Amino acid sequence: HAVTDNDAVINYYEMGSQQRFIEHQEISILLNEALSNDELYVDYQPKVRGDGSIIGMEALLRWSSPIIGGVSPGVFIPIAEQSGLVLRLTRWLVNHVCIQIRQWEDEGLDIVPVAINISGPDLDQADFKKYLINCVVEQNIKPHFIELELTESAKTQNIPDAIATVQYLASFGFCITLDDFGVGYSGLSKLTNFPVQRVKIDRQFITNIQSDAKNAQVVEAIVAMCKVFKIDVLAEGVEDLREVDCLLEMGCKSFQGFAFARPMSRRSIAKLIDKTQMPNVKLPLKRQNKI
Ligand code: C2E
Ligand code: MG
Ligand code: MG
Ligand code: MG
Repeated sequence: HAVTDNDAVINYYEMGSQQRFIEHQEISILLNEALSNDELYVDYQPKVRGDGSIIGMEALLRWSSPIIGGVSPGVFIPIAEQSGLVLRLTRWLVNHVCIQIRQWEDEGLDIVPVAINISGPDLDQADFKKYLINCVVEQNIKPHFIELELTESAKTQNIPDAIATVQYLASFGFCITLDDFGVGYSGLSKLTNFPVQRVKIDRQFITNIQSDAKNAQVVEAIVAMCKVFKIDVLAEGVEDLREVDCLLEMGCKSFQGFAFARPMSRRSIAKLIDKTQMPNVKLPLKRQNKI
């Protein structure tokens, strides 16, 4: 009996991983075609100050497959990073965002910096900086309107080379941000030799910050460190206005999260950054005006 049960358990897990492998392969193959089939689009999530003013936005990749439906970037980006496809995804996004910013400026919109998530493998490509610079030059965009979000734990092949690339991009005028801060520690996390303008504290430290003393201590330490280095500190994944109160108390002045706004279409974000449309932001702005 025991042997049969064990076999069943082993089979179950083997099937599980095989299933995952097939899904992984399927996503990889379908994603390859997604680029040319026009299945990708971009949502934008605002970054705000305590008073509700919008200081920027993050471009978030979206994939709607006619075969398997919507797939979260949390699922397909790691797969694309493994297969190398992420290099093409990033280039598609960079180009797309630059064209979008040009269009908004031409429409007379008072634009704010747009953040793009950069993967470790992007930084390993020798001509990545050239591609990025070409895009902003081609669309005649000031580089400080592009913010590059790098994760601390970005898996790059050569950390000194990656740091040199980032330093070059910073000197060209791009804003450099460390994303998901506090989660991983890598060569990229050394704030002292890195031209970082903003740190985004990972959502896991923000959740339940009012009641979780450990998380509160981590956030306070990061805020204190950023103060020393004169780096803007942003809390990501703020879902509750009580968290905002708590974070303001700690000296964190920039926010991103469902408490203010979810990622939204390019049309919705354009209405939001267009000052005359600001009253459309209901909950947070009314409240923020009182803070
Ligand atoms: P991230 O860069 O940390 O982006 C923030 C993620 O948190 C987004 O998920 C966003 O929708 C979500 N989020 C924002 N506010 C809240 C909140 O209040 N509560 C909760 N629960 N979630 C919130 P999304 O769009 O699913 O993206 C997941 C991750 O996928 C991103 O994490 C980023 O690492 C990656 N990603 C997304 N787009 C791209 C891209 O174009 N390129 C690369 N390389 N990675 C991307
Ligand atoms: Mg990000
Ligand atoms: Mg993040
Ligand atoms: Mg995150």
